[in-house]
Formats: sequence, C-alpha cells, structure tokens
Amino acid sequence: MNIHEHQAKEILREYGAPVSRGIVVFSLNEIRDKISKLNKKSFVLKAQIHAGGRGKAGGVKLVKNVENLEEEAKKMMGKILITHQTGPEGKQVKRLYIEEASDISKEFYLSCLVDRESSKIAFISSTEGGMDIEKIATEDPKKIITNKLELSAFGPNEEEIEKIIKVFNFNKQQKKTAKKLVSSMYKIMIEKDANLIEINPLIITQQQELICLDAKMNFDDNAIFRRPEILKLRDLNEEDPTEIEASKYDLAYIKLNGSIGCMVNGAGLAMATMDIIKLYGKEPANFLDVGGGATKEKVTAAFKLILADKNVKGILINIFGGIMRCDVLAQGVVEAAQQVNLSVPLVVRLAGTNFKEGKEILDKSNLKILSASDLNDAAKKIVGAID
Ligand code: GDP
Ligand code: MG
Repeated sequence: MNIHEHQAKEILREYGAPVSRGIVVFSLNEIRDKISKLNKKSFVLKAQIHAGGRGKAGGVKLVKNVENLEEEAKKMMGKILITHQTGPEGKQVKRLYIEEASDISKEFYLSCLVDRESSKIAFISSTEGGMDIEKIATEDPKKIITNKLELSAFGPNEEEIEKIIKVFNFNKQQKKTAKKLVSSMYKIMIEKDANLIEINPLIITQQQELICLDAKMNFDDNAIFRRPEILKLRDLNEEDPTEIEASKYDLAYIKLNGSIGCMVNGAGLAMATMDIIKLYGKEPANFLDVGGGATKEKVTAAFKLILADKNVKGILINIFGGIMRCDVLAQGVVEAAQQVNLSVPLVVRLAGTNFKEGKEILDKSNLKILSASDLNDAAKKIVGAID
C-alpha cells in the first residue's frame, strides 16, 4: 500500500526526521485559513498523487506569496497529472500539500527497502538526488551506492550508518542529523512494516540544514492488519477500482496492460499461465488467483472483474482442481457469463477434482467455449482465437 507524500512526512516527523512544516488541503477555500499556520512568505505547492515525477509534470510549484499560491492551486486542483509513473491516463489531483519553501543548495538521494534476495534492509545513497535518479541508475550506476544491513533489534550500528552516509560528505552537524535519519528510517521499516522509504531529494539548504524534501513510502499489504494506523492512511482514490472490488471478495487480482484475461487457481500456476501467454506472443490483462476454496460467488465476481477490463479480448481459464472443485468453478463461470453477456472467446482448461462434472456443466451451457487439453494447448488456442 502506498501513501501520500504529506502522510509519509508526518510519519518521518513522528520519528524525529527533519521535514519542513506544511499543510494539506482538499479544497481551495481551506487555503486562507490554514496557511496562517506556516511562517514563511514563500511556499511550495505540491500535487498529492501516488506517483513520482510530479516536478517535471507541473505538479510542484514554487510560489512567492499567498495570492500567487491561490492562483496556482486553482490550476492544480482537479487537474489530471501525467507523470512518467502514472501511465498515460494520469491521475487526478484531489489534494494539495503546501509547504514552507526551502532554499536548496544540494540535492541527494536516500532510500531503504526490503531486499528479499538477501533478507536484509538495503539502503541506497547517491549524491545525484533530484528528479533524474532513474537516469543515473542506468547511465552512471557507480554513483548509486547500496549497503545491505542485517536485521537487528538494535537497528543499524555506527559503522553501518557511516557507510550509508559517507558519500554525502556532510559536515559535523549534518552528519549528526543524517545518522538519526538513517536510524529513524530503519525503525519505520520495522515498526510500521514498510517495504520502501524513499527520500528524493534529501537536501542541504543554503543555511546548511538537512531536510527531507520529498518522501515516498510503501507498506507490506500482508502486514497491514496489524498496523491500523497505516491502513487509516489508505486513499482509495489512488487505487484501481477493479483491485478494490477484488479485495472485497478476497481475490488476488492485479491489473496489467495486456489483452488476455486470466483466471487461475494458485499463484504459481497463475505466473506460469502468464508466462506461457507471453511465450505465444500476447500479454496477460491481469494476474488473478481465485485461491483454493473459491465459492461460486467468488468465481462469478472474478469473471466479472476480468470482463470489466475493456482491453480484454479473450479469456483463459486454467484450473487445476485440488481443494478447488472444477464443478464449482464451472457453475461460477456459467452464471457470470450469462449475467454479463460474454462476447469474447473463452478457453478453459480444467484438470483435477470433479473435472468431468465441471466439463459437463460447461458443455451443457450455451456458452461458446474452446476446451483445451493442457496449458500449452490452452495458451495456443486463446492467442489463436483473438488474432
Ligand atoms: P517529484 O518530482 O514528484 O519527485 O517531486 P519532489 O517533491 O521531489 O519535487 C521535485 C523538485 O522540486 C525537487 O527535486 C526540487 O528541485 C524542487 N522542489 C521541491 N521543493 C522545493 C523547495 O522547497 N524549494 C525549492 N527551491 N525547490 C523545491
Ligand atoms: Mg522526488
């Protein structure tokens, strides 16, 4: 789960990290009232969407006074912002963050994330912070320094922290603040079950102060149940409506950009199904694991979700019945197909528990179904059917 910049900064502040003062508004008429809480005369106006790259897309504006601020806020609120992270459809700006402006002297990059391969927390530091970190990563990777830390109840030790911040060449005071920041980031990872904390840029101001000027955080969905304070920060506006619908039925659904909708039981089989679709030259429209003991209602909901995606030109159902019974699956599919008026080709491969009964249900329905003997055959058939 992602959260907004202003929420991430609030968490950083709670953990003693240096962030500027700011206010968040959901409508323009809140600005006048709230702005009096800030001291400075000049501000940065920042669109709050769950995507980076706002600076280059007009989602970050420096303003010199309140009039100027209101003018720019009017233009920004409600706008569809398209950044390199939003996809071509962009994201609508529904809240704004207004922060006391900083005078930047240098921009750095500091992040930490769960490194699953090594089961460690990796800190990434670079002197090349700001808006082009992705470019640096491909063009000059030596400038990106990774330090992987063992998990420890005491947090990172002095030596580890020194390594992480060495590249920044900070003065004594800045070092002290940076060390505390690294410890705080580590603590947030552990205490809030974060997957990622990215501060880009981490700046030195002209007054030589260290400030986290931007902050992005992502949390482990599987641990959210024990972090109600994080779940409260969820913004459904930022999430794909089909994924929200899927979570109501406890379906593991991830929307993708291809044209073949998939319904599979088991995450591993779902990955294999997606791979084989690609092998035959098409892209999957989604990842969908209906799970082990799926009910007819769950299957119906899953099928409707797949069909709600306008890009779907064909559907591949691949079920290996274990706990999941093929007849239950078949009933769900038939019911959903009748309800939504199925108009795209459907290939079904069933194997395992009650597969004969399942096949019978599908055969008796008036649905036009291509049945497949194995996964290879299924992928070939669905790709062939939409070509
Ligand atoms: P992003 O583009 O979505 O990552 O948004 P950021 O919050 O990182 O802002 C983009 C850029 O705007 C930063 O790299 C800074 O150069 C600039 N910026 C943001 N806040 C300030 C500020 O307080 N003062 C100045 N001078 N520039 C800022
Ligand atoms: Mg940034």
